[in-house]
Amino acid sequence: MKILVINCGSSSLKYQLIDMENESVLAKGLCERIGIEGSKLTHEAEGKDKHVVENPMPNHSTAIKMVMDALVDPVYGVIKDTSEISAVGHRVLHAGTVYSDSIIVNDDVKRVVRECFDLGPLHNPANLMGIEACEETMPGTPNVAVFDTAFGMSMPEKAYLYAIPHEYFEKYSIRRYGFHGTSHKFVSGEAIKFGNLDPEKAKVIVCHLGNGASVSASIGGKCVDTSMGLTPLEGLIMGTRSGDIDPAVVQFICNKEGKTVNEVLDILNKKSGVLGMSGGISSDFRDIENAKAEGNHLAAVALDAFQYRVIKYIGAYAAAMNGVDAIVFTAGVGENDKPGRKAICESLGYLGVKIDDEANNVRSQKRIISAPDSKVKVMLIPTNEELAIARETLALVK
Ligand code: ADP
Repeated sequence: MKILVINCGSSSLKYQLIDMENESVLAKGLCERIGIEGSKLTHEAEGKDKHVVENPMPNHSTAIKMVMDALVDPVYGVIKDTSEISAVGHRVLHAGTVYSDSIIVNDDVKRVVRECFDLGPLHNPANLMGIEACEETMPGTPNVAVFDTAFGMSMPEKAYLYAIPHEYFEKYSIRRYGFHGTSHKFVSGEAIKFGNLDPEKAKVIVCHLGNGASVSASIGGKCVDTSMGLTPLEGLIMGTRSGDIDPAVVQFICNKEGKTVNEVLDILNKKSGVLGMSGGISSDFRDIENAKAEGNHLAAVALDAFQYRVIKYIGAYAAAMNGVDAIVFTAGVGENDKPGRKAICESLGYLGVKIDDEANNVRSQKRIISAPDSKVKVMLIPTNEELAIARETLALVK
């Protein structure tokens, strides 16, 4: 069975065609600048040359048609006919409080995705466009929505409710949702299998450290807390996002700089994090590390603060779960930043964490990086959101 995985942004569309017999990626690609001048599709298939098509893509529907053309192309394609695609799995950001699991798309699902435009203004409209484009281009092929917020739905009230007047939750569903859910679910599940942990009781902390970064705590694969909130702005220090901050800072900057709340929120989302803390060096952690190596003080502080916040969240979640069996690193920084993992683990000695330097010095490969006598297993598990979406899709359509 072949499953197409689609991840739509407002002007982009990433895709992978996965053969579920052996979970291999048959082809993958990216449509860029949808609805903007200079649209481009880049398509890659195993053992074939890269295929680049520069054609106008006024909307996501045209983009999907171009993806289909690439997939069935006699030279660059990997299938003879689009009927070979059994189902399409879509990454969808927000399902509000409605869905705690993936679901086959019907009119109700589309209505919920639309009703959550307020909660995911950048992503939900694009996600819906992707779904509708597939319905139009491949009528009869089931579409499955895999929600980023689904994993966080198992949090208890004490973890998801903000300490603000309850009417705001009742009227507007203001609560903590958590994001990167597909990754946290996939990685915590893999950690339980790989680390031979109790599938019902294992207490796992996943540190998804990329440009966007979040930590989750789960027991038996069910999320009990996670660091992102109503939006992905809460929690860790990220590439460009501030993470946790006293909300009074917003009012203070508004007053001092004559800015609106929206403008300051934009700064907290796009100009803060290690980019802002380093005095504008970069949002890319490698640039920050290089600047630190060259003696830049603010870069060193930004990296230190990033790691410090991760350490604090791990401590908080170990306390919240009254213990932890495994701590898992994933995503761009988590998978590749060996000194960062080491620095974080060295501050977790009180939990009985002991890192194995040799195991830690291997990149991006599923492995246990703690010493055999470490009380907590520390692991590196590369995330694979596309495969996770494909598996969820398969489970619903087979
Ligand atoms: P996202 O999906 O949120 O865009 P990724 O998970 O792809 O992010 O992670 C991207 C980040 O990973 C970038 O900031 C990049 O600098 C960082 N990264 C990649 N390799 C390394 C490395 N060797 N050391 C430190 N950071 C790295």
